[in-house]
Amino acid sequence: MTLPKLEIVNLRKLFGDESLVAVDGIDFAVEAGETVALLGPSGCGKSTTLNMIVGLEQPTSGDIRIDGRSVIGIPPGKRNVGLVFQDYAVFTHMTVFENLAFGLVIRGRPKAEIAKAVHEVAELLGMSNSLNLSASELGGSELQRVAIGRTLVTKPAILLLDEPLSNLEASARLAMRRELRRLQSEIGLTIIYVTHDQIEALSLADRIAVMNAGKLQQIERTSVICKKPDHVFVAGFMGSPPMNLLRGEIIGDGTSLGFRRDGLFIGLSSSEASVSDYVGRPIILGLRPESLTLAAAHDATISGKVAVVEPRGPEAVVTVESGAVSLKAVVPTVERPQVGADIGLLAAPSSFVFFSGETGRRLAS
Ligand code: ATP
Repeated sequence: MTLPKLEIVNLRKLFGDESLVAVDGIDFAVEAGETVALLGPSGCGKSTTLNMIVGLEQPTSGDIRIDGRSVIGIPPGKRNVGLVFQDYAVFTHMTVFENLAFGLVIRGRPKAEIAKAVHEVAELLGMSNSLNLSASELGGSELQRVAIGRTLVTKPAILLLDEPLSNLEASARLAMRRELRRLQSEIGLTIIYVTHDQIEALSLADRIAVMNAGKLQQIERTSVICKKPDHVFVAGFMGSPPMNLLRGEIIGDGTSLGFRRDGLFIGLSSSEASVSDYVGRPIILGLRPESLTLAAAHDATISGKVAVVEPRGPEAVVTVESGAVSLKAVVPTVERPQVGADIGLLAAPSSFVFFSGETGRRLAS
């Protein structure tokens, strides 16, 4: 069995007088050649995690292993980990060549080796003709390309990217996303990519690690995580729009079972083993917007009034208000209803996802 490229073991980081828990005991492994996106709201501990991997911050406890060996105590320059920040950190008083060469120059590498490495990376990044330009003449996406190139010349075992595209305007961001995908496939880099933009994470990563308040809530393949969130936080964070989450309770009298929230009641099959233990306890029902279909108000799972219709090309997001509950459904644009219409939403029981109202964890189905 080959070793993971990177292993994070029960990693914790406390700041200040140890009252601020920035990273709260996270575990995950990244395989060689894999791209993992760390995704989560501002302040959840993403950058602190990257800074510990590169060696800019010392963990309070836990371990970081690269190719099976702990790197705790090894200085940043000796870990063979490259970090690219969002604000480029390119030296504008230097040429592109000098910027790309910088990491090797400070390592005292021979001139010929530096020139060869710089030319190889410049070619990879499509910048061979820009080597003599001053960095001050470059636009945002070219500066970011130089920043990435400057890290690549040192041939890092792992490349860490901290919000690398967030300073770029939309079209440059799309172009750089394509560029990063090409680099991934051409040089098979192992990448950890920090972002709070889930579209970016979904389009670049093999797996997504969702963090919240210093904890790793879930790490899962990109193609699966939106459909199978393990935690209510992931369910409410992933997807556009995210899953509808209704906090309520399970009621049952031995013969019938249902979910109740204010005036809303949804009957459940008594064979719903996962929820039958939850009678009288708080529960959260998750309904994916894509699995709700429109129906006549009288024979629907939930009925209400259309509050908003947002066309998005071939699909439209329809917000339906039913008493105090507001639900979003994604429907074909041609079927979109009028605002104010009385409408029903049908949900197949097989699409219901339940989370414990106490722990937020998904119940086994
Ligand atoms: P963002 O997306 O805003 O960059 P993040 O998920 O990267 O956020 P971190 O920057 O890792 O989050 O911060 C996690 C927590 O640790 C925050 O509460 C932050 O204020 C705190 N923190 C980060 N660095 C330090 C530091 N050097 N000293 C004290 N507190 C810090």
